[in-house]
Amino acid sequence: MNLERILEVIKNKHPDADTTMLELAYDFAQQAHQGQTRLSGEEYIEHPLETAYKLAEMDIDLPTVIAGILHDVPENTAIELDEIKKEFGSEVADLVAGITKLGKIKYRGLERYAENLRKMFVAMAEDVRVIFIKFADRIHNLKTLYALRPVKQQRIAKETLEIYAPIANRLGMSELQGELEDLAFPYVYPEEYKWVTEVSKKKYEEYRRDVQREIKRLRKKLENVSFVPMDMYGRAKRYYSLYRKLLRKDMDIDRIYDLIAIRIIVKNIDECYRVLGVLHSLYKPMSGRVKDYIAQPKPNGYQSLHTTVYSDNKIVEFQIRTSQMDDEAEWGIAAHWAFKETGKKKQRMPVDPEKLKWIKTLLERDSEQYKPEEYLDKIKMDFFKNRIFVFTPKADVIDLPEGSIPIDFAYHIHTFIGDHCVGAKINGRMATVLTALKNGDMVEILVDKKRAKPSEEWLNKVQTNLARDKIKQSLKKSNFNKLFQIFNR
Ligand code: MN
Repeated sequence: MNLERILEVIKNKHPDADTTMLELAYDFAQQAHQGQTRLSGEEYIEHPLETAYKLAEMDIDLPTVIAGILHDVPENTAIELDEIKKEFGSEVADLVAGITKLGKIKYRGLERYAENLRKMFVAMAEDVRVIFIKFADRIHNLKTLYALRPVKQQRIAKETLEIYAPIANRLGMSELQGELEDLAFPYVYPEEYKWVTEVSKKKYEEYRRDVQREIKRLRKKLENVSFVPMDMYGRAKRYYSLYRKLLRKDMDIDRIYDLIAIRIIVKNIDECYRVLGVLHSLYKPMSGRVKDYIAQPKPNGYQSLHTTVYSDNKIVEFQIRTSQMDDEAEWGIAAHWAFKETGKKKQRMPVDPEKLKWIKTLLERDSEQYKPEEYLDKIKMDFFKNRIFVFTPKADVIDLPEGSIPIDFAYHIHTFIGDHCVGAKINGRMATVLTALKNGDMVEILVDKKRAKPSEEWLNKVQTNLARDKIKQSLKKSNFNKLFQIFNR
């Protein structure tokens, strides 16, 4: 990797970009890491360069790419953060600070690990670009994982599957999620990896041929109705995602219809539905497989039309979306931090703060009260447990762990609502606050401001750590108040 390749990626998309700072950052990092090598034998600078290259490919803004080049300087060299701030300003310095691990003195072992993770979440809540750098950093580390001791390989690969990939998923960054998972997969589940790649090899080859033929044919047919899509291509399912799906389909690869899906990219939403209409007049759709994620986006924001059809005796899945939806589907929240040229490109839509609320929820938990092992378990549980998605009466989506009850929902909305909930309407019908919620439920909380308060019983029924912590706080407070009243009698 070298600076020129990074500049090329940026200049290709943004010919007028001023990359002076980036070039300076390269010189700075190059000198700082002078003489250092990685365990893989490469010069150290290779790693920050790969990190920055990935960020440039993702088309994230320049300060983030610059921070990517500098990200290991404070941790691994004699140069301190202050100097980066002096040279490159506080925006870049803050980003670098966000992924720099804590000093080695204060914490050790698991405790240090938990503290670093916690610190990263804090930084991420302040500026989500921190996690983009972490992803790019992690991808290169996974690519060079072979050079590490097996124990370390396991730790890094597992952490990728348990923490980083789910975060990417939550942020709607499916491209990155897939890349992280496929790099970690062979280390965490070597046997399964071998099996999946073997069993799918022939299928993929077969599909690849079919898909090419199908695309050609469809292009002609669309031309006949004078419709020209912006782009049309086959997209192979990634191995780890295939493995997860196989687990749900009795390991029967013949039941997987989207091994390679055909993506059709069009200009606007009207055209999405028009193409769907054309497809259904040409092919017989499989029943129950038409999904309108445009009218009803997935909770992480994903939008597209999906349909599975019979073409001759083959089964093909189509995914239809606009180019903006395509950007968002691949890069999720990162699409909002895309490179901006002042006055040239239209401004990106601002991020809906609701989409980032879960990061803050992670932090709201009073982390200091837990031992490091407990804290890690709780973080993993928050990401790992199966999630359900329920709706507020205004149709906002709230995601909760499976088995959650209206009390979990209420605390997720607001502490006050949680503390005073007395009942719930689930899909318009009265229910108790202890009823288990199901995916897709619409939940309305009934509140009694004067009389209702949390009970000890709730503690055993709630599923989220957030609700549990809030109930404990509230119980403590009311016990204290009782005591206070006794003293004042
Ligand atoms: Mn690094």
